[in-house]
Amino acid sequence: MPNFADQDPALRPLLDRVLSADDRARIEPLLTELGALAAGEIDRQAALADANPPRLRSYAPDGERIDEIEYHPAHDRLAEIAYECFGLAAMSHRPGVHGHPARTPHTVKYALSYLYVQSEFGMACPLSMTDSAARVLRLFDPERYAAEIAALTSTDPATRATGAMFMTEKQGGTDVGRTETVASDRGTHWTLTGRKWFASNPGADIVLTLARVPGQGEGTRGLGMFLVPRLRPDGTRNAVRIDRLKDKLGSRSIASGEVTLDGAYATPVGDLTRGFRQMAEMLNVSRLSNAMRSAALMRRAVRESVAHARERVVFGTPLFEQPLMRATLLPMILDAEASLALVLEAAARLDEADAGDAAARDLVRVLTPLAKYTVCKRARTVTGEAMEIRGGNGYIEDWVNPRLLRDAHLGSIWEGSSNVIALDVLRCLRRYAAHHTLARAYGERARALSLPAGKRLAVRWEELAARGDRLLAGPAAEQEMRAGRYAEELTRTVMATLLLEQAAYECTAPVPNGRALLAAHVYLALLTDPEALPRTALAHLAALAEGGSVPIAVAEADV
Ligand SMILES: Cc1cc2nc3c(=O)[nH]c(=O)nc-3n(C[C@H](O)[C@H](O)[C@H](O)COP(=O)(O)OP(=O)(O)OC[C@H]3O[C@@H](n4cnc5c(N)ncnc54)[C@H](O)[C@@H]3O)c2cc1C
Repeated sequence: MPNFADQDPALRPLLDRVLSADDRARIEPLLTELGALAAGEIDRQAALADANPPRLRSYAPDGERIDEIEYHPAHDRLAEIAYECFGLAAMSHRPGVHGHPARTPHTVKYALSYLYVQSEFGMACPLSMTDSAARVLRLFDPERYAAEIAALTSTDPATRATGAMFMTEKQGGTDVGRTETVASDRGTHWTLTGRKWFASNPGADIVLTLARVPGQGEGTRGLGMFLVPRLRPDGTRNAVRIDRLKDKLGSRSIASGEVTLDGAYATPVGDLTRGFRQMAEMLNVSRLSNAMRSAALMRRAVRESVAHARERVVFGTPLFEQPLMRATLLPMILDAEASLALVLEAAARLDEADAGDAAARDLVRVLTPLAKYTVCKRARTVTGEAMEIRGGNGYIEDWVNPRLLRDAHLGSIWEGSSNVIALDVLRCLRRYAAHHTLARAYGERARALSLPAGKRLAVRWEELAARGDRLLAGPAAEQEMRAGRYAEELTRTVMATLLLEQAAYECTAPVPNGRALLAAHVYLALLTDPEALPRTALAHLAALAEGGSVPIAVAEADV
């Protein structure tokens, strides 16, 4: 029986290192179960849901306005698996999910979600918004919204609710300060009037949105955060009109629409003068979730490519044995593995930050946009390569490749498009000297490894920090022009450090294995010299692609 967890050479060893022994033991049966579902039922349902997108029913037969979205049963089954069977939106917020005595760490949530998303990308959007809406309410207004938090984190089909985030308006997606939706104070509650141009999961039970608060000023400062329920307290439908659904390239299993708030009932969330800052919290965890989703798409693309290359014989030899195909596969394999390592690293630091660790908070502040920028952008290329590797079939909708490619392009666009994210990284450099934060943290971690490559990485970190200083000394326009490339280098150097750390762990495990060391060495070699021909890694491609043992001495030879 195919199982995406069993076929992943990096996932379990990485979890061995980053999770506590208890968490590692607890996740194991879930990995096995979800890995099998992802390779089987989720994949089948996802193909069905993709081919049968949701439809908007604006009116009931009697002409009454209802604004309901009709989903295919495959969508509903995918939701059931994610929300109810695995509690993916609930587990970070309350104890008891899968018998966990406390809140489940983000690392566990993202590792499980990574398996799920390898087959179903679309559902990860409402799932993440439900998860992050619960987080925002818990952080900023837990008492007032205790019932909503309970509903968002329920795994019971009778009581569970889903969340959404309505932020983008026609004139302002990136530029949220141009939001025109207006809030009016009605004493017991507020009403909101305006149009939201992009709203995924528009039929959500609980929507968090931004609106202009009278007298609070211009730009983002003038925005308050509000909760808009699907139903008013008296049980009637709220004045939220779904004008139409978007005809999307990807993420077709779920609905995204245009919405009019027509004097919609709303209640304030947290501090009304800090609406935008509170929304940034939601945005940041969604950005990390996006990096996770792109890492999952890359892993699926690699899996498909390796399976196809093994099977397909061209000129009498399987593609997997052909030198140029091996060279094509190698960077895809490495990027998928490095991306997973980065996502789980950011998740682990987020767990620490949530527990009050200020240093971890500083790290996760910059790791999040770095991961969103690099991983989401790279997923576009890797899924594109995977399509080509399958040849003509890769372009045909009978296969998963078109879906992977269509979905991958969304990761870079929503929740802040790549340039906007690169500018966010630049903001971190300017305001918090994040390049030094990164260089200190990862330079020290690299230096502490008893591997020669660790010293070289530590030197690279010093050089990168100095380059960051030089970048910041330049004119503002040039800083922006360089922001993307510098962000990419920072991300890749974090990834190289993480791969090497994993290598050190696996080299000293009870059953030592040099596979991760080989991966780290070749990743670093290609980072330093993109033209390098990593002969040892190419010779051991099967172990890198599918797992297996590599002698440590062999992996060391590639330094
Ligand atoms: C399928 C889908 C679902 C969505 N769901 C939601 C949702 O549920 N809720 C929600 O609020 N939004 C949603 N969005 C909106 C999405 O987050 C925005 O479209 C996205 O953030 C980009 O904003 P924009 O469309 O206004 O593009 P613009 O802001 O017009 O940006 C256009 C391009 O310019 C670049 N750019 C912007 N500023 C700069 C700069 N200073 N320098 C250089 N380049 C720059 C951007 O990176 C981008 O590539 C969704 C979008 C899609 C496609």
